[in-house]
Amino acid sequence: MPELPEVETVKNELLPLVVGRRITGVTLVWEGIVTEPSVDEFCSRIVGQEITGISRRGKYLFFHLGSQDFLLIHLKMTGSLIVSQDPPEPFKFVRAIIHLDNATNIYFRDPRKFGIMRLVRDIETISDKLGPEPLEESFTPAVLSERLARRTAPIKALLLDQKVIAGIGNMYADEALYAARINPWRPGGSLTRPEIGRLYHELRRILWAAIENKGASVDTYFRPDGSEGSAHYEFKVAHGLGGKTCPVCGGPIERVVVRNRGTYFCPRCQPLK
Ligand SMILES: [Zn+2]
Repeated sequence: MPELPEVETVKNELLPLVVGRRITGVTLVWEGIVTEPSVDEFCSRIVGQEITGISRRGKYLFFHLGSQDFLLIHLKMTGSLIVSQDPPEPFKFVRAIIHLDNATNIYFRDPRKFGIMRLVRDIETISDKLGPEPLEESFTPAVLSERLARRTAPIKALLLDQKVIAGIGNMYADEALYAARINPWRPGGSLTRPEIGRLYHELRRILWAAIENKGASVDTYFRPDGSEGSAHYEFKVAHGLGGKTCPVCGGPIERVVVRNRGTYFCPRCQPLK
C-alpha cells in the first residue's frame, strides 16, 4: 500500500512530467473511481484546465488546477499513476486516463479498485482532519509525545491513525517500531521519554531513506515511469521481507495481528514490559 514515501515519490516524479500541461480529456474506464462531484461535472470541470502544481498531504495527492479547483487522488491499497504515451500493460487494471496536451497520458492503474479521484475547492477541509506531517520541521519529539499522551490504544494502531500522524501505514510503522525497539502492543501513552525520542528519530530516518529509495514496491506500487522503488530491500521486518530471524538478536520474527493489521516484530528486541 502506498504510504508517505511512495506518495511523495509519485508527487516528485510527476511534477516535471505534468506541471504546465493542460488536460485535454478524461477517459473513465471505471466511473466508480470518481467520488465527487458527479461524473459529468467532474469531466467538464477538469477538461481544459492547466495543472499548475502538485502537493501531498498524508497519503493524499492534490493536483492544483488553473480554475482553483484541486483534483484529489488517493491511491489507497493498490493504485499507481503512470505517465506515458502508450497504455501500460496489462491494460485491464487501468481505471481512468487523464489526457494531456503533449500527447502523454496519466494512467490510473488500480487492481483492487479502492483508489479514488475527487474534485475539491479547498485542501484545508481535508488537511485539517489529518495529524502532523512527520517530516516537517514543526514535527518534534514534543509533538509526537503530545499526540500519544494518555492514549491507551496500541502504539502500532496509533501510528496508523491518520489523525494522530499523517502518512504512516503498515510497512513503515512496523519498521519504525522495530528500529526503536518498542513492542507494537504498548499503549501509546505508556511510552517513556527515551522511547518517544527513539521512535521519533527512527520514524524520520526510515521515511527519508524510503524517499531516497523511491518507495517500496512490495506489491503493486510503481513510479510514474512504470519502474519500481527499492525501499523494501532495506526492510528488516515489514511484510516479512526481512526474513524469519532478527538481524540483531538472531531470534524469530513473529507475526501478530494488532487491530486487524498484520504486524511483524522481534519479541526479544521489542519486549512487552
Ligand atoms: Zn531481535
